[in-house]
Amino acid sequence: MASKNEKMEAIVSLAKRRGFIYQGSEIYGGLSGTWDFGPLGTALKRNIMDLWWKMFVEDREDMYGVDAAILMNQKVWQASGHVDTFADPLVEDLVTNQRYRVDHLLKDAGFKVDGLSFDDLNKMIIENKVKSPNGNSLSEVRTFNMMFKTNVGPVSDESSISYLRPETAQGIFTNFKNVVDCFYPDLPFGIGQQGKAFRNEISPRDFIFRSREFEQMEVEYFVHPEKWEESFEMWRKLVWDWCEAIGLPKESVHELEVPAEDRAHYSKRTIDFEFDFPIGREELLGLAYRTDFDLGNIQRVAGKNMDYSVKGTNEKFIPHVIEPSFGVERALMAVMSSAYREDEVNGEKRIYLKFPEHLAPIKFAVSPLLKNKPELVAKAREVFTILKKKHGAVMWDDNGNIGKRYRRQDEIGTPYCVVIDFDTLEDNTVTIRDRDTTEQKRVPIAEL
Ligand code: ATP
Repeated sequence: MASKNEKMEAIVSLAKRRGFIYQGSEIYGGLSGTWDFGPLGTALKRNIMDLWWKMFVEDREDMYGVDAAILMNQKVWQASGHVDTFADPLVEDLVTNQRYRVDHLLKDAGFKVDGLSFDDLNKMIIENKVKSPNGNSLSEVRTFNMMFKTNVGPVSDESSISYLRPETAQGIFTNFKNVVDCFYPDLPFGIGQQGKAFRNEISPRDFIFRSREFEQMEVEYFVHPEKWEESFEMWRKLVWDWCEAIGLPKESVHELEVPAEDRAHYSKRTIDFEFDFPIGREELLGLAYRTDFDLGNIQRVAGKNMDYSVKGTNEKFIPHVIEPSFGVERALMAVMSSAYREDEVNGEKRIYLKFPEHLAPIKFAVSPLLKNKPELVAKAREVFTILKKKHGAVMWDDNGNIGKRYRRQDEIGTPYCVVIDFDTLEDNTVTIRDRDTTEQKRVPIAEL
């Protein structure tokens, strides 16, 4: 493959062609920054999210799961600081009025922007006479709050303002006390949540990497203030386990220790886990030590005591928090780009997705060698039903000739294709063909 962009384009095209991901509202001309998952994308996303839930909630004794409302009382976002500070720097093309995120614009033009304040960015634009991508002059830098504002109920006034949540984390913090009061967990313990988050990104781009509506999987892990480091290290290791579980090559994942000037003001330590996407090395997920910032804010604004009492002692304190924050779309994009392969079979170019078996949207495709032979079709339906009962994600595929079926299944990453032919009618064996090696074997139906 000639360039990284070509790989990205090939993945986007495959995602659309094969029913993984479509542009949101495409039929009406689209809605920028939104994506719809087709049948295979939905299955892949579900497999990723279910694996996360199993690894980080179900299989652990120290974890609880919640599913909080997306719409929350506006005080949540005032207390968390999002109303005042959840903003990105924006500039406007003075001729076309198109708006751009300043740091992205400067980065694309070859400038180093890490750690720069809004003022620094402004100076950089003026001093270097940076123009918009259309060659026009730019406005002054200003801030743009990324929360989607709405009103709850029939009256639109100050008191009915709400926001589509920009992160799932706050739905966990606001339920901290509920979980403690119902389950009396010992420290350290965590609460996990999966769900939609919304950010009015100034310039959504790079396929699903930067969307306006996306899905997060977050854990808030509550710890004794003096013991945060051991839990931070535990989660650091668990993040690596996660990357391995979703099949990302170790050498494509990188830790970036975020310097103090780039960290959120409440964070004492943050590691961004970056991945070598086809678009370049970018943030896949984050791990942050958030101190007692969020629970402290709730105590201050809601006037409710957020102390945790250590059982059997007089010790009380607001727990500190370690937060691993995973983005579903970025995980999915990393999985797809790690799985994407091109090779040559019988002198023809072949594209296949080498998904780990547990993530593959379809585990088996079953087909009769010829679809106009009723006895083959009947036998193939029998095998299909057996496999479907056992594995669920099994596809019936009798479209086109066998070669075409294999190519189609390769492109959607199905690990095994099972073909029923005339020998099957005699000896109850089938051909099973391996996606990665393209090797075919004869196997008794009972052993499938
Ligand atoms: P970035 O710097 O790329 O904008 P961020 O640091 O603002 O990301 P966080 O607020 O730490 O992101 O969000 C946690 C995770 O949520 C990110 O690591 C990413 O996986 C995911 N995420 C954040 N914003 C988006 C988005 N616009 N589209 C898709 N996923 C996102």
